[in-house]
Amino acid sequence: MSVPAVSFRGVSRHFGSVRAVDRVDLDIEPGEFFAMLGPSGSGKTTCLRLIAGFEQPTAGHVRIFGQAAEGVPPYKRNVNTVFQDYALFPHLSVIDNVAYGLMIAGMPRAARHSAAEEALSMVKLPGFGARKPSQLSGGQRQRVALARALVNKPRVLLLDEPLGALDLKLREQMQEELKSLQRQLGITFVFVTHDQGEALSMADRVAVFNEGRIVQVGSPEDIYHRPEVPFVADFVGSSNVLPAEAVQGLTGRAVPASLRPEAVRLLPEGGHAARVTGVSFLGSASRVTLDWNGIRLAALLPGGTPRPEEGAEVRIGWDPEALHLMEGRP
Ligand code: ATP
Repeated sequence: MSVPAVSFRGVSRHFGSVRAVDRVDLDIEPGEFFAMLGPSGSGKTTCLRLIAGFEQPTAGHVRIFGQAAEGVPPYKRNVNTVFQDYALFPHLSVIDNVAYGLMIAGMPRAARHSAAEEALSMVKLPGFGARKPSQLSGGQRQRVALARALVNKPRVLLLDEPLGALDLKLREQMQEELKSLQRQLGITFVFVTHDQGEALSMADRVAVFNEGRIVQVGSPEDIYHRPEVPFVADFVGSSNVLPAEAVQGLTGRAVPASLRPEAVRLLPEGGHAARVTGVSFLGSASRVTLDWNGIRLAALLPGGTPRPEEGAEVRIGWDPEALHLMEGRP
C-alpha cells in the first residue's frame, strides 16, 4: 500500500456553531485526479484550505504524504493552490507573476525566469512572459495562475473552482487540457467544483459533500450509477427516487431506489401505466415528466424519439438492473 498523498482522520473545522467540515475521513492517492463535489456551503473549500494550511482543524488530523500537517505552514507543505479569481498581481509581468514564489524563496533571477518559462510552456503560453495580466484573455489568465502554481513542482495541486469564470466552450477545452496536464505531470490534483458534469468527466474519484460531511466517495461510474444515498442520486444527475423494498428471507425493509431518467423508456404496450405531465426539448434529447401512481418520474428520451403529448396516457418500463437500492446512511 502506498502512503496516501492526503489523508484526513476525523477532521472537523467548526466556526462557532457552523460545522463547515464535520468528522471527515478521506484518503487521496498519489497521482490521483480527485474531485470534491457538493452544493455551495457544503465544506469543499474549507477542506482544501485545511490541506493547504490556511485553516487548522478544530478536531482530527491531516497528513500529507504520511507527515502530520499540524504546525506546518502553507509554504512548507509542498502543496500549491489555484484560486478561482486567479489572484495575479496586476502590476507584475506574466513571467514575474509566475516566478513570484521562487523569488520569495530566494532563487536567482536567471534560474527563476527559466523555471517560469518552462511552466508557461507547460500551460501553452510560451513567449507571453512580458505581458501584464490586463493584456490577457480570461482563459490565458487562468493558465498563468496554473503556471504559477506548478512552477515549484508541488506534490499536490489544489484547484478551487478554477474554471468557474470561463465561458462554457473554454471551460470544456480547459477541462481536457487540465486532465492531460495532470496525466503528464503525475501530480496529485484535488479539484473543487459544484458542477457535477465537470467532476464526473475529469476525476478518477469523486467525493460528494453535503453539510460538511462526505456522503459518498467513488469512481464517477459509482457516483452516477450506484448512488448510496438519495442526496447523491438527486445532486448528481437528478435521479428518480422510488420507494422499494429489500427482501431478505421473509422480511422486507423499505429502502429507497434510484432510477436514472435515461433508463426510463416509453413502451408500445405492457409495463406500467403513467401520465405525461410535462415535455421539454433539450436539443439532443427530450425530458418528459410522468406521474406514475402519484410518484413523479423523469424520463430522458434520445433525440429522434417521438415525443408524447402533455396529458397523454403512456406505458413505461425499465430494466430491473437499472434500479439501484440505496442502502447507505441518509
Ligand atoms: P462554495 O461552493 O460556495 O465555495 P463550499 O462547499 O466550498 O461552498 P465552504 O466555503 O467550505 O463551502 O463553507 C462551508 C461553511 O462554512 C459555510 O456555511 C460557510 O459560510 C462557513 N464558513 C467558511 N469559512 C468560514 C469562516 N471563516 N467563518 C465562518 N464561517 C465560515
